[in-house]
Amino acid sequence: MRKTIIAGNWKMYKTIVEAIELSNGLKREFYKLDNQGIEVVLCPPFTALSEVNEVITESEIKLGAQDCYWKDEGAFTGEVSCKMIKDAGCQFVIIGHSERRQFFAETNDTVNKKVKAALASGLTPIMCVGEMLAEREAGKTFQVLEGHVRGGLRDVSAEDAAKIVIAYEPVWAIGTGKTATPDQAQEAHKYIRDLLVKMYNKDVAGSIRIQYGGSVKPENTIDLMKQPDVDGALVGGASLQVESFSVIVKKASEVVK
Ligand code: PEP
Repeated sequence: MRKTIIAGNWKMYKTIVEAIELSNGLKREFYKLDNQGIEVVLCPPFTALSEVNEVITESEIKLGAQDCYWKDEGAFTGEVSCKMIKDAGCQFVIIGHSERRQFFAETNDTVNKKVKAALASGLTPIMCVGEMLAEREAGKTFQVLEGHVRGGLRDVSAEDAAKIVIAYEPVWAIGTGKTATPDQAQEAHKYIRDLLVKMYNKDVAGSIRIQYGGSVKPENTIDLMKQPDVDGALVGGASLQVESFSVIVKKASEVVK
């Protein structure tokens, strides 16, 4: 049994005051929800982590960062280590988001270093993988996914791999309003799960949660979450308002597999 996990990636949105307001609103909503059996993670910008942590401290909501660096400390201006992220109250960290791969030269190699550093410090990595539109149109989706998964998990033991979360995020669906169909999502998730069986074994592959990300909205949540290999969602735009994010969580919690 894999526990459904819904994470909100706030990207570069929300000042501290706005982040406190949003997390307070979500805390109020989730108290009303029977969200047993579902894990909810908020990933605000670094500047608001501590404040959001204070707001959610007595709730079941968990905290995540949007990136990390692989060294614990040192002369790395602008970077934030896993140790610092944990210190701010996080249990999760998003790694290898397509925006970081596209705009900040993130590679499978740097993703791999970050995944290993996160695991070593006790954080759960949410490792993002996914193809660009041109790659899908060229029939290269599985090839890209194999590169991202094998590259990101290079030299990660079976014991550690079992702890991670993978987010399948087709780049063409992120922030575009175009969602993968439930069949397209299931096909990619199944491919990733089968690959994990080959890389590790059935037990490990069966325990890794694979989230779908890419224009998840209240209207498409149920059909996506019903897919057997879709274990949750990484939500961008729709995680920025109390109403849309809490409806997504509520709908996801209603799906029984
Ligand atoms: C994301 O940021 O990971 C994402 C999937 O964004 P959106 O939901 O806005 O497409």
